[in-house]
Amino acid sequence: MKHVIVITTGGTIAMKYDKVTGGLIPAVSGADLLEAVPALKNTAKVEVVEYSNVPSGHITPEMMFSLGKFVDEKAAQADIAGIVITHGTDTLEETAYLLDLMLKTCKPVCITGAMRGATDMSWDGPGNILAAVQTAISESAIGQGVLVVLNNQIHAAREVTKTHAVDTDTFASPWWGPIGYVYADAAVIRRHSLCLEKICTETLVPDVYLIKCAAGMDEYLFECLRKKPAAGIVVEAFGCGNVPPAVKHGIELCRKAGIPVVIASRTYAGRVVPAYSYEGSAGSMLSCGVIMANELTGQKARIKLMLALGLTKDNQELTKLFACHTTAESLTKVF
Ligand code: ASP
Repeated sequence: MKHVIVITTGGTIAMKYDKVTGGLIPAVSGADLLEAVPALKNTAKVEVVEYSNVPSGHITPEMMFSLGKFVDEKAAQADIAGIVITHGTDTLEETAYLLDLMLKTCKPVCITGAMRGATDMSWDGPGNILAAVQTAISESAIGQGVLVVLNNQIHAAREVTKTHAVDTDTFASPWWGPIGYVYADAAVIRRHSLCLEKICTETLVPDVYLIKCAAGMDEYLFECLRKKPAAGIVVEAFGCGNVPPAVKHGIELCRKAGIPVVIASRTYAGRVVPAYSYEGSAGSMLSCGVIMANELTGQKARIKLMLALGLTKDNQELTKLFACHTTAESLTKVF
């Protein structure tokens, strides 16, 4: 039987309703979690490590980075086939992507969680843990990067996002879809995520801000970040990377102060491209050295910039790190 380590970090999957406070609070231990999934005994030899028990909104990028180091240590054990991490769903995609970029191991690393607490009639935790363990022991999950497994779907960390505030079918990879599905007897993976990237750094720079654009926004927040000064800024722009003229001015001020500025799209799918040259368009900001986030969402571009800044502060080098994408030409080279 294959050996899997389940690392618990907290989240709704480890919460129960508390009468005194009137809401869900952390209350389920790692051992309790495994006990709730009797089918695990016939699936794998499972060892549980209680890493933390916090809501995912309390997890910082530094904690994610330490968790990544811990995962690599555990995965380096010869007898370990794969790792499962349980995590709150709110920031799960950020941890998944940070680990995807930093982990050295090729062994399957699957992150799961739950949308319903352990006292809820429809607690989805046990089923999700079983599905994640099934995926972690699957040969086809090797070398696929970090996988997010919930609601029997398997998603690539780079592509997945939480799409619904409360529904159990919340994780989706807009435009690309899941890479696999977990049946009762096995996990089946039907495609590869071709854009696996690594940023190998010993440090991460957490002082990176994410600003979402809205109609008529001004430069005020950018002035604050320039004064701070922030280590980096990610802007969730409109459509393919366009911002209001005043925001462009704010971005230029930050660029003059040497702050790297990454442009992502607030639309959650598709690339940012300099298709226009009007005032405030992505094209109009290229001359001040903004970096295009490619297809990354704002929250993932922020994670990537934190790691990238751990490697280099040079704007051209940072631009190169964000330029990675799979094109028809690069696919021809691969196959
Ligand atoms: N608020 C919870 C958390 O992220 C939500 C969840 O786990 O689903 O910790």
